[in-house]
Amino acid sequence: MTLFPDMCERVLSESIIGRARAAGKIDVRCTDIRPFTENKHGRVDDYPYGGGMGMVMAAQPIYDCFQSICSERGERPHLIYMSPKGKVLTQARALELSHGDGFAVLCGHYEGVDQRLLDEIVDEEISIGDYVLTGGELPALVLTDTVCRLVPGVLSNDACFEEESHFGGLLEYPQYTRPVEWRGREVPEVLLSGNHAVIERWRHERAVEETEQKRPDMLDIYQGKL
Ligand code: SAM
Repeated sequence: MTLFPDMCERVLSESIIGRARAAGKIDVRCTDIRPFTENKHGRVDDYPYGGGMGMVMAAQPIYDCFQSICSERGERPHLIYMSPKGKVLTQARALELSHGDGFAVLCGHYEGVDQRLLDEIVDEEISIGDYVLTGGELPALVLTDTVCRLVPGVLSNDACFEEESHFGGLLEYPQYTRPVEWRGREVPEVLLSGNHAVIERWRHERAVEETEQKRPDMLDIYQGKL
């Protein structure tokens, strides 16, 4: 649910997610909140009670938009509000959502959404980090992308995300492709050896090293120190 469906649609029509949608592997729909407003001027926001800067998204159009999604779907989906006040998104939460029955996402804009609407229908608030964006569309796209790529069949090889950064608690090992030498920098010889056991060990060691250098906090958790 968004005031800017074209912005979302454009991103979700490209690349891996776009192909998965076209192939019917995932069903993602961008719903415009605006047509649901009962305001005769088509307004979906208003001034905040108590004064202050900016505008607040009104409850009525969002509520009616959500009711329409519930009827179309034949059931009430879990509703996530993208918010800088929410719990910060993790790979673990994305994986849980990818195994669920689907969900709806509300994108806020301006100064946010009337609190009464949030209290009435929102089940969960998710943030994509401790900073503030102009709207919930980019966060919703981030959430949708990361969840959809974990849905079985969306990636060409489902095993490939299991070795990626954040999946097993480590950052991923470095990756290389052709040519073997580029600007005097060579691909590590072990990767050319064809010995899968040795390559596996090398990759694990590099993953630990990478995590130690870039995210020592993650390594502490991985090694059970915290
Ligand atoms: N006044 C709000 C506050 O201080 O918490 C911020 C409103 S923000 C300008 C407008 C909308 O962008 C929010 O309603 C939310 O949907 C979205 N948004 C902004 N930053 C976000 C973040 N880090 N994670 C998720 N959504 C975010």
